[in-house]
Amino acid sequence: MTALEAELMRLVGELTPAKRIEGRALHRPFLLLWAVGKAVQGEVREHRWSTVRDAVGPLMTTHLDVPASADQVLYPFWHLQGSDLWEVADAESLKLTSNGRRPTLSTLNSLDPVAGFPQGAYELLSTNPEMAARVASHLMSTFFNPPPEGFLEDLGLADLMADRAVDALRPRVGESFPNRNAISDVYGGNRVMGITPLRDRVLSVYSDDEGPYQDAPINEIGWIGYTGDGLTGHQRMVSGNRSLQTYQQQQRALRYWHKPDGGQWHFESWVVVVQVRQRWGVGVDGLARREFVWVLAPVPSPLRNTWPADVLEALAEEDWSIQDDTEGIPAGDGGPAGDDGPAGDGGRSTDTSSTRDRYRRLAAAARRTADRRTRRSRLVEVERYYRSVTAREAVMLRSQDKCENRDCLGHPAERTDAGAAILEVDHVNPLARGGADTPESMIALCPNCHALKTRGRNRKRLQSVLLKTARLRHEEFMSETG
Ligand SMILES: [Zn+2]
Repeated sequence: MTALEAELMRLVGELTPAKRIEGRALHRPFLLLWAVGKAVQGEVREHRWSTVRDAVGPLMTTHLDVPASADQVLYPFWHLQGSDLWEVADAESLKLTSNGRRPTLSTLNSLDPVAGFPQGAYELLSTNPEMAARVASHLMSTFFNPPPEGFLEDLGLADLMADRAVDALRPRVGESFPNRNAISDVYGGNRVMGITPLRDRVLSVYSDDEGPYQDAPINEIGWIGYTGDGLTGHQRMVSGNRSLQTYQQQQRALRYWHKPDGGQWHFESWVVVVQVRQRWGVGVDGLARREFVWVLAPVPSPLRNTWPADVLEALAEEDWSIQDDTEGIPAGDGGPAGDDGPAGDGGRSTDTSSTRDRYRRLAAAARRTADRRTRRSRLVEVERYYRSVTAREAVMLRSQDKCENRDCLGHPAERTDAGAAILEVDHVNPLARGGADTPESMIALCPNCHALKTRGRNRKRLQSVLLKTARLRHEEFMSETG
């Protein structure tokens, strides 16, 4: 900070509101914030009394709950001078009240003097948004926390404050609440929607582990795959999804709220949208539909200069187009393998020809994304993760609900809650993990065979047998007749 900046912060820090019998009077910090808003918007340094009276008066009535009276504006317009943050021009020519403490309303109205920040402070505030945000954040966290509804907008500070990790911003990361109503009671915003702003207009997304959506952390990357807005039917780029797309394009941070199973809602992290994908999912009506997956990367604050290098790199590479994981793949009849559908056959088709067709398409999609490896950043890992989801789905389909080890000594008949067979899909050779996520190098095994493949004394021999099996099964499924 330069000496001038430090001096400005000192003066702002020393600002004390007048003590009134009813409590603190916040007229002075309010007028200062209004003037900060004007400086940020490039308006001239000095404001006419009549302008301030007519603009600030009604806002004070709204936000400070003071009577609608010009005297309420006169008070800070004059006394703010004592803070060295405000100058009234030609003050000596104004006629003062009998006790000499302030000018009369009539002399102000007739002479209509101008007032504003001193020149040095004005130049800092009008040319340095970070400085303006720091001043505004200090005033807000001290006097207006949380800000009342419409406060930031009315003072012309919404854009300035929304884009910065200012100390005044509440909630703080980690704050928790028993339910959505409790969040809304304190910070405003819609009580139900999954993608919606708080009162400060910064977007929040909510992820409930017990809710209808499957939001999942992306393996080992620490980024989040957040299912888009819309419970049934194909999701479209409207409402919440449209808001997320806007944030993606503007590269703005938003708030990520998470409610773990049986836990509380908490503001888990600031996040940025690094990518949007489209995949097949199942709506709450049980029908397959296209849905969006928003890839969210946690960041320490909304301030871009705090974002990790891999996030910035991914943002620089991303072209905002939708990465389509449904391309060429028909919707599953029970949704993603093993996830849904009635108990019994797991909801999957028993028609061999359509199973084969679907397998071929999934295998082709897994191959296609495997070949699309031109990216070098974390997005490669995102790509690999979603590709392996596709490959796993193909292998589950190929297994036809049975352990693929030909020498299996007994596959448990028990099924999961979702009615799926108990199978683990894995790379045949564990050393190849992170390599090719294509179905011909992966296999579905019962827990027993999986353990033999991973920990058994004869695992090397078993692995080579399983690799041949996987390739054979793959070729069988890829062939038109089989
Ligand atoms: Zn087995």
